[in-house]
Amino acid sequence: MGQGLSCGTSDDHGLFSAVQCGDVETVKTLLERNSSLVHRSRVYDRQSALHIAAANGQVEVVSMLIDQSVNPDLLNRYKQTPLMLAAMHGKLSCVQKLIEAGANILMFDSLNGRTCLHYAAYYGHSDCLKEILSAARTSHVASSWGYARFVNVKDGKGATPLHLAARQRRPECVHILLDNGALVYASTGEYGFPGSSPLHLAARAGSLDCIRELLAWGADRSHRDDSGRIPFTVALRYKHGACAVLLNPSSAEPLVWPSSLKFVSELNEEAKSLLERTLMEANKERENNILKGTAYSPINSDDGMDDNISEVSDTEVCCICIDQLCMIQVQDCGHQMCAHCILALCCHSKPNTSTTSPTEPLCPFCRSRIVQLQVIKFEKDEDTNHDNYSSKIRKSRRSRNLSEGSSSFKSLSAVRSFGKMTGRGSGRIAAENEYIDKSQ
Ligand SMILES: [Zn+2]
Ligand SMILES: [Zn+2]
Repeated sequence: MGQGLSCGTSDDHGLFSAVQCGDVETVKTLLERNSSLVHRSRVYDRQSALHIAAANGQVEVVSMLIDQSVNPDLLNRYKQTPLMLAAMHGKLSCVQKLIEAGANILMFDSLNGRTCLHYAAYYGHSDCLKEILSAARTSHVASSWGYARFVNVKDGKGATPLHLAARQRRPECVHILLDNGALVYASTGEYGFPGSSPLHLAARAGSLDCIRELLAWGADRSHRDDSGRIPFTVALRYKHGACAVLLNPSSAEPLVWPSSLKFVSELNEEAKSLLERTLMEANKERENNILKGTAYSPINSDDGMDDNISEVSDTEVCCICIDQLCMIQVQDCGHQMCAHCILALCCHSKPNTSTTSPTEPLCPFCRSRIVQLQVIKFEKDEDTNHDNYSSKIRKSRRSRNLSEGSSSFKSLSAVRSFGKMTGRGSGRIAAENEYIDKSQ
C-alpha cells in the first residue's frame, strides 16, 4: 500500500490501521508512546489519522484525536478536510463531532472546489446534509457569508449542491435543499451541459422523484441551457420517456408549493408536511392523467404517502369539496377543511401580477386572515370507527379519481363552485373570496 515508503514507519502503519478499525486502545497506546504520531499523514494520500477515522465513522477515535487537540481542519492531498470525508461517506456522528469541535463547513477542496455540503448532497446523505445546514444557520458562516449564499455555494464548475443532488438522483436531498432556500432556477457554469438548471440535470439522470420535487418548487420547464435545450429535450436525448412526458412544456402545469406566501414560512412542521404530501399526491394524480394513453401509464410511486392518514378515525367531510375529510384547522377562527382545499386556496403557479398587494390566504368561511394552520388531532378508536373511516377514505378517493378531469385539480374546481355558492348568498358563508376569482 505504500506505508513502507521513505517516511512511513511501522508505528505509522499500526496507527492508521488501528484508527481505521476503531481500535481505540491501540490508538491510545501508540500515541502515548509517540505523541508526534498524531500529526503524521499517510504517504500516498496525506490522510491524517483524523481523516481516516472520519471516513470510516470511527467516532470514538475522532473524539479522542480532537481531545488531543488535533486541528479538525487538517487537509489531505486534495485539500479535503475530515468533515468532507465524513459527509462523503455518510458518517453522521463524525460529522456532528467535527462540527462540534469547530470544523469549518466552508472549506473548498482542490479536486472539484467542493464543500462538505456538496459532498453530502452528491452522495445523498440527507442526515449529514441537514446537520451541516443547521450548523450553517448558527455558525459564523451565516453572519459572514450569509445562509442563503452558503446553501447555493458553487463548486469549481459552477454546480450548487442542488445541481449535484438532482444529477445524482437524490430526491430527499433535493427536497431539503429547496426547503432551505436553494435556488431552483440556478444555472451551472461548466458542470453537466453548460447553463444547465437542476431540472436539466434531473432530466438527464432520469429521476422522476427529483423532477417532481423541482416542479413542485416552481422549476421552469422552458428554461434553456447554453445550447438552447430545455429539460424535455435532455430527457428525450437520454431516453427517459416518462420524465420527458412530465417535462413537456405543453403538458398540464403541476401545482407549485406556495413558497411565496409568507404564512407558509410560519407553518408548523406537522401542517407543512401534511400539505407537502397532499401537493405531491395531487401532482401524481395529475401525472397519471397526463400519462394516460402514453407508454408510461401509470408512473409507479413507491413512497406510500397514502398510508399516512389511515390511523385517523372520527372526523368530518370537508364542507368545501364535500369529498375529502377535514384534516386542517384554521387558527384562530377554528374553521376546518381538507388539505386539498387549503392548498387550492394558497397555490398559484401563475401569481396574478396585476394586483400589487400580496395575496394573503383568507379563511373561506369567515374571511379572516389565515395566521396559522393546525393538523386536526383525532382520537383513535380502533374497534368501532376505524373501518368506517377507511372505507370512507377509499370511497372518497374513488369518487375523486372518477370525476377528475384531465387538467383540473378537483379541489380547486370545488373551491370555484364554492365561490359561486357564496355568490348566491349562502347565509353560512361571509362573502365571495377574492382568492377564488384569482385562481381561475
Ligand atoms: Zn375539501
Ligand atoms: Zn374561519
